[in-house]
Amino acid sequence: MPADLPLVGVGTDVHAFEEGRPLWLAGLLWPGETGLAGHSDADVAAHAICDALLSAAGLGDLGAVFGTSDPQWAQASGVSLLSHTAHLVREAGFVIGNASVQIVGNRPKVGPRREEAQDVLSAAIGAPVRVSGTTTDGLAMTGRGEGVAAIAVASVGRA
Ligand code: MG
Repeated sequence: MPADLPLVGVGTDVHAFEEGRPLWLAGLLWPGETGLAGHSDADVAAHAICDALLSAAGLGDLGAVFGTSDPQWAQASGVSLLSHTAHLVREAGFVIGNASVQIVGNRPKVGPRREEAQDVLSAAIGAPVRVSGTTTDGLAMTGRGEGVAAIAVASVGRA
């Protein structure tokens, strides 16, 4: 394949709502919203972008890089995982082109805080990140209000 074509990667993540936890999503704290269950802060958007970046660079996935029970990353923020992932991708000889993440769920509504989320996530990886949201018309896990999912793509190139 031509050396100047970008390499793309995809990532998804899903976490269930858990009463009593703060909601961290797309690098932001969402006061008044139900949080998500997980080993770390359960930021599905940040985790999906991590997986997309690792996939694009051929570095595996979040489980392989951070482990699912490694105490070093317990309660780690999604933004810190993103920063570390971007560092690993660059260390492996790539430049990061961009990333885009779609948040799937009934709540929270991401539109009003889109710019803020994009700024935080872009700063974390040092490349543009776009954030969008959608619902599933009341269907499936996210439609039933059981949790939030995220799907991300990212592009990298050889440095
Ligand atoms: Mg996750």
